[in-house]
Amino acid sequence: MARIKLNGLQGCRRCARLTEFIGQLPPGKGRQRDDYHNAPVNGFGDLQARVCLVGLAPGAHGANRTGRPFTGDGAGLFMYPLLHQAGFASQPDATAVNDGLELQDLYITNAVKCLPPENKPNADEFSNCRPYLVEELKTLKNLRVIISLGHGAHKSLLRLFQARGLINRLSEAPFGHGAVHRLTNGLWLVGCYHTSRYNVQTGRMNNVMFIDLLKQVKTLAQGDNV
Ligand code: SF4
Repeated sequence: MARIKLNGLQGCRRCARLTEFIGQLPPGKGRQRDDYHNAPVNGFGDLQARVCLVGLAPGAHGANRTGRPFTGDGAGLFMYPLLHQAGFASQPDATAVNDGLELQDLYITNAVKCLPPENKPNADEFSNCRPYLVEELKTLKNLRVIISLGHGAHKSLLRLFQARGLINRLSEAPFGHGAVHRLTNGLWLVGCYHTSRYNVQTGRMNNVMFIDLLKQVKTLAQGDNV
């Protein structure tokens, strides 16, 4: 499992609210605090990837527990079998950092690397953590397509792109499932509804929608217009 080394991430305490929050979390049912990662969660995947999927932040009992994005919670339970079906993941299961999962042509990370209360990072926390995301995107030299998983990740990416002159206004690239935007440097940004258990249970997201979006992303990554 490859990871981009982000200087200062381990032990980062830029966001006092989040550092305090994860330092005081009670364990989940039937688990001990020692079972939890409770620290910034690095992205992982294929360093030669043409596609990067950016989520919002670690899930309380998923990435914040296991230390790997979307691993061990409902969002991952939905996502990884379909990533496997689409050829982006070596196996359908994602249960722990040592489960043998490898990503192919895909890197997965979050806009905010620490678990926020109620899954809601504030504007300062997005901003504090954005340099790590910038570093990840810069390191992925073959990158062609960025998937923004959910509105929060999308907005954080737009702020990053605006700061780098890749868009002029945030309103140029509205979020929507399957909405495709081309940045001035040629990168594609593709919006995707979050794969959270809530979205799946309410029917906002389903297998067909996610697989169709992955096909669209593959076409863009191969250099074809959609
Ligand atoms: S969210 Fe990011 S910037 Fe804030 S403390 Fe965690 S790693 Fe540091």
